[in-house]
This record gives sequence, structure tokens and C-alpha cells, in this order.
Amino acid sequence: MKSDPAKLTQRPKALQFFQESPLDLLVVGGGIVGAGVVRDAAMRGLRVGLVEQHDFAFGTSSRSSRLLHGGMRYLAQGRIGLVRESSVEKTIVQHIATHLAEPLAFVFPTFKGNRDWKLWQLKIGVKIYDFLCSGRNFGKSTWLDRDETLQKVPPLRREGLNGSVRYFDAFTNDARLVLDTLRSAAKNGAGLLNYCRFKTASRNELWDCEIEDLLSAETYQLQARAVVNATGPWADGLPHSQVKLRLTRGIHLVIDRKRLPLTDTVVMTEGKRILFAIPWGERLILGTTDTDYNGSLDHVRVEAADVVYVLDIAKRHFPEVSLSVKDVISSWAGLRPLIADSHGKPSEISRSHQIDNPEPGWWDVAGGKLTTYRLMAEQTIDRIVKWLNELNRLNRLNGSNRQFPSCRTAKEVLLTPSEVEGVSGILPPEFRRETVEHYCANEWAIHLEDVMVRRTRWHYYFANAPQMAQQVADWMSDLLRWPEAIRAAEIERYFHAVNFAKSSETSHFSGTAENAASRRVRDEVHR
Ligand SMILES: Cc1cc2nc3c(=O)[nH]c(=O)nc-3n(C[C@H](O)[C@H](O)[C@H](O)COP(=O)(O)OP(=O)(O)OC[C@H]3O[C@@H](n4cnc5c(N)ncnc54)[C@H](O)[C@@H]3O)c2cc1C
Repeated sequence: MKSDPAKLTQRPKALQFFQESPLDLLVVGGGIVGAGVVRDAAMRGLRVGLVEQHDFAFGTSSRSSRLLHGGMRYLAQGRIGLVRESSVEKTIVQHIATHLAEPLAFVFPTFKGNRDWKLWQLKIGVKIYDFLCSGRNFGKSTWLDRDETLQKVPPLRREGLNGSVRYFDAFTNDARLVLDTLRSAAKNGAGLLNYCRFKTASRNELWDCEIEDLLSAETYQLQARAVVNATGPWADGLPHSQVKLRLTRGIHLVIDRKRLPLTDTVVMTEGKRILFAIPWGERLILGTTDTDYNGSLDHVRVEAADVVYVLDIAKRHFPEVSLSVKDVISSWAGLRPLIADSHGKPSEISRSHQIDNPEPGWWDVAGGKLTTYRLMAEQTIDRIVKWLNELNRLNRLNGSNRQFPSCRTAKEVLLTPSEVEGVSGILPPEFRRETVEHYCANEWAIHLEDVMVRRTRWHYYFANAPQMAQQVADWMSDLLRWPEAIRAAEIERYFHAVNFAKSSETSHFSGTAENAASRRVRDEVHR
């Protein structure tokens, strides 16, 4: 089936939308926060557009632990409000995106001599955890004695094992949550542009903004009544921003689940920190770390020391499995955009969010979690709508008395089952040309990397992802009419994105989204 290239790129239409008349709201940043904000605004009838400098979900929102969670660790820190807020939100996300919220059981074992995590405290903790979810958690928490724990998690270390608690959160697919939230926003009339950078803005009666289409290198001017800075780790660098961030890096490793056959997620501890071993289909995700970060925001690498740290903790909990670097199929590194707090350990900094309005019509939205993205968006749009209504009243803007309805994002599902079937879920979709065609035609996929890394997660799931990328490049060449030179450049670009720099391989585990097999194949490709 040949596709119409005009259908495959909605960019000209989107660019026209941005310029033909002033926007009520321009959202900068296409991560989960920007996606939530643009959806909410569109559903309330605002004329809203969003620009993303890379691909949608390029930043932290495709590199998290993928948990919809209240936060057992925050409970231990006494942050009841945050846990309550996240616990309610995780159930809301399950309602609006059932295909992206799979209930997940966690076994939290405790060992003799561990002063930070005592079984009796955890037993009380999980009951509070269920209670904070208003009794609507994904399952009822229980306590397991030593034998019951080993029955549930046979490879677990036996020495010193006291027992465990078992509680529930949910597993998601972070990048898909962003993309489906954006698809929902588009259905409600929002204009969306990836590979388009917000450059600068000045405030006159409206905000005069300059954006650059990075595919054509053209600069465009547009006007907006309000601007939201939802740029995550980039938030303190945007002109007019008043955000102060402290960035910490976290990495994850993917291994074959046959190597460590877990059915429940297992919580692993190191001092007060907790790490997870999370089943993901035939794979297992191990992570994460939490270390201060000052490097490049566009190329966040997995360091060799991080890999050793995560594997060591896994080996301590599963001593008979003897995991090694050779088991790692893929990995990723992401940055937590935490509200600045120079004191204390990174893992102790609050994960709560902040919404500020430093200048008329400018909003900074920062911090928070994937789990609470919808609430962050609702609170932001509530404030913007209030401000726009006031502006309308004072200036009789447009000569109209527009009134915006209240938020509906907690009630209305993102997409219908037929819109997500075969293209969006927790596990990667089937490897088919038609699926790739869907991403190019309906989900703004422009580069090979967009399909391999974020739309499908094939890159992380399959050890032979680099070979699969050659086939996807063939399909995309056909669909998007790439000449051979572009096809070759796209493969190069994918390897660069997932493998960063060849020279760094000795000192870094390397790659923003490293795949163990990609090194081998890339070397073959370049030989
Ligand atoms: C290791 C790790 C594990 C985590 N695990 C979890 C978890 O399990 N559960 C959970 O709830 N939360 C988790 N989080 C937190 C969660 O992932 C983040 O809070 C969330 O993804 C941040 O989203 P964001 O939209 O603010 O930022 P991002 O996703 O980074 O999006 C910001 C976007 O803005 C774009 N941008 C920047 N500047 C510009 C510009 N000038 N013009 C246009 N676009 C621009 C960037 O390219 C980027 O795509 C985790 C975080 C990390 C790092």
C-alpha cells in the first residue's frame, strides 16, 4: 500500500494553525507535563498549540521507571499529602488510559540487620498506602512470612530474610502515555509540532513568540495570550523562566526475564534508597539510580559505574543468578527535574510540583511526577482560565464573552479502544509495516529513531533491534519517499542517538538509549 505523503506530514497544517490568528495558549515542551496541559486546554475550548524541540517524549518522559505509583518511599519520608495525591491520580490514569496502566504487585522483602526498612513498619505502611487510595487500590496489600515470600520470589536471597509485604501500584509505558495524551489533544483541536523550538518571546499586549522549525530551519513568529513553560529539565534555561532546578540522573537496565524469572516486581534496598526489578513481558527492568547531574541535557548517558551499581544491588538480592553486563539488552538514562533544594541527598528532595506565574500570561510548571501529570495540568489550566476570563472581562477581548468550561480530563478517556489497538500498550506492538505506517501518518513520527525508541520501544525490548531498524528504515523510505542518502543518514542518526559517541565507549556504558547489540551491528554497518 502506497501512502500519500501529504497525509504523512501534518506539519504545514500545524504551522498554519500557529500563525493564522493568536493562540490563547502556547505550550512549550512535549513531555508528559506539556502533553497534559495541551490536552486539558484543548478540551476546555482554548485555541492552544504545543512546540517540542526534539521528538515528543524525547526527554525524561520516555526514560522513567514507568510506574504509576503513590510512592512507598515518600510514605516512609512522611510525605502523606504527596502520596495521597499520587495514589488518587494513579487510579485516574488507569480510568482514562486503561491500556497503559497494568496493575502490578510489589514484593518488598526485609532482611535481618536492615535498620532502614523494618518489617513491622512496612506492615503498617502498606495498610496506610491502601487507605490513601480511598480503598480503590489495584489490589489489597498483604504480609508474607519467610516461606511465603520465597514461594512468590524463588530466586530471592534466603540468608537473613525475615518476610515481606506485598502491595500494588501500576505499570505504564511513559512515552506512549505522552503520545496518546497528545493524540487526544489533537482530536480536541490542539495544534502540535515536534522538532520545533521555542526561541524567545516578548510581552506586548500579547506574547510575541519566535519558534524555529528545526526540519526546515525556518523561523516563524506567532502570538499567544499565555505561555506555559513545561520543559522539564530544560525549564530553568527558557527565557522569562523563574524556575530553579536540581537535576538528578537515573538509569535503567533491561535484561531477559529468563535470567531472573520474577512474576511480581521486587523492591531492592540500598540504605534508605529503593530500587526495583520490574517484569516487562519477556524482559525485566532494573533501576534506578539518583545522582546529581550537571552535563548535557540532550545527551544523558548511562555511565559504567551506574551499571555496576544497579547490577551489584540486584546480585545482592539474587545471589544465585550472577548477573553481569553481558546480560544487559538495553539501557536508558533520564533526568529528574526536581525543584531546587541544595540541601540533602538527591533521593530525599521532594517530588512535588510547582506552578508559578512570574509575569502576566507566563506560567512555569515544574517538578512533579509522571503519575501526577494530569493533576498538574488541571491546576495550571484552572489558573490560566481564571486569568483569561478576567482579561476577557476587562478588555472585552475579541468582543466576545467567552467562558471556558471546567476540567474534564479525569473523566474522559484519552482514546477509544479501536484507536489504540495494535499501536499502543505496555508491550511493544507487532513488527509490521502497517504499524510503522500508522506512526508516520497519525503520530508525527519523522525519524527512524522516533519509531524505534518512543512509538514502539522495539529498541529497548529486542536484542536484535539494530537489524530491525534496517527493515523499519526500508518501510519508512517507501512511505516517506526517502532517497538512499536520507535512509543512510537516518540509520546513522539512530545509531548516534542510541549509542552517542564511539569514543566514549571505554569510559561510559554509552548511549542515551543504548542497546547492547547496537554496538556490534553498528560496527558491522561501518566496516
Ligand atoms: C530515572 C527516573 C525515573 C522516574 N520514574 C518515575 C516513575 O516511575 N513514576 C513517575 O510518576 N515519575 C517518574 N519519574 C519522574 C517523571 O518521569 C518526570 O517527572 C516527568 O517525565 C517529567 O516530565 P516533563 O514533561 O516535565 O519533562 P520532559 O519529559 O523532559 O519534557 C520536557 C520537554 O521539553 C522540551 N523542550 C525543552 N526546551 C524546549 C524549547 N526551547 N522548545 C521546545 N521544547 C523544549 C524537551 O525537549 C523535552 O521533551 C522518573 C524520572 C526519572 C529521571
